[in-house]
Amino acid sequence: AKASGRNNTQFYRPEFTALSTERLELERDLRLALAAQQFTLHYQPVVAAADGTLEGMEALLRWQHPQRGLVSPLDFIPLAEELGCIEAIGAWVLDEACRQLAAWRRAGVGPRRIGVNVSVHQLRSAALHGHVQQCLQRHGLPADGLVLEITESAAMAQPEQSIRCLQALRALGVNLSIDDFGTGYSSLAYLKLLPIQSLKLDRSFVRDLERDDNDAAICAATLALARTLGLRSVAEGVETEGQRRFLEAQGCTLLQGYLFGRPEPAAHWTAQWGAAPNP
Ligand code: C2E
Ligand code: CA
Ligand code: CA
Ligand code: CA
Repeated sequence: AKASGRNNTQFYRPEFTALSTERLELERDLRLALAAQQFTLHYQPVVAAADGTLEGMEALLRWQHPQRGLVSPLDFIPLAEELGCIEAIGAWVLDEACRQLAAWRRAGVGPRRIGVNVSVHQLRSAALHGHVQQCLQRHGLPADGLVLEITESAAMAQPEQSIRCLQALRALGVNLSIDDFGTGYSSLAYLKLLPIQSLKLDRSFVRDLERDDNDAAICAATLALARTLGLRSVAEGVETEGQRRFLEAQGCTLLQGYLFGRPEPAAHWTAQWGAAPNP
């Protein structure tokens, strides 16, 4: 297992090789995990760079495995995509995140928006559009309360198709964000055509920006690009005051990272905001 530094969450990282017993077991367990209610969402704050006010929360999926403990989404999401169960899991995530935002709104606490990660398989699925619409309706949420995060590599894999999918989602009124920006190979010509509202600068560039001039330059250039395209920018993985200062000075709109809060269960935030226990 990879040491996760200051992260308080201990993840099980299976270092499996193809078709090992361990992998087969994990596949079997993953297929059963949704029905067994082993998934849960943690939520991490997204704050305004200018004054630190809470803008949104990102929903991050966790698998509580009965024997292995918490399994990292980095390990089971690729597996779920391979097994064809990511759509069902993704549908659950969307519904649960919307339910939670609605509960916070009813209690008069929490953020205006919730961010949900959407896998490339979901994006390509014809069911996503209807499902988003149903979730908003079922929980009585305005479409503007939802931010769908699509990775740059997913959006750019088949750009024409992505543009059509994203246009249909945007027509519902939801917000669209390009996740892990800078790690894929964006064509700037396509980027301009995507009906998106924000770019999320990947944590890998933020991490060393105080030490590495190249990373600092990449961050500054990406933030300038977002501004030029009229998009909001979100920096991931902000851990230090120095990173915060740099990103704010470079015009970053929103910040997310351990400096402002780690991913935590909803009840943690509900208690912190001083509301009644979570429904
Ligand atoms: P992501 O969307 O880029 O999410 C940011 C990751 O960075 C999260 O890892 C978060 O816990 C971590 N992080 C946030 N702030 C900091 C920080 O200050 N320092 C450090 N070291 N890490 C920070 P996590 O929760 O392990 O999720 C990993 C990835 O799994 C996500 O990356 C996302 O791509 C994927 N993922 C998570 N939930 C879902 C989901 O519901 N559906 C799909 N399709 N993918 C998901
Ligand atoms: Ca994300
Ligand atoms: Ca990222
Ligand atoms: Ca991501």
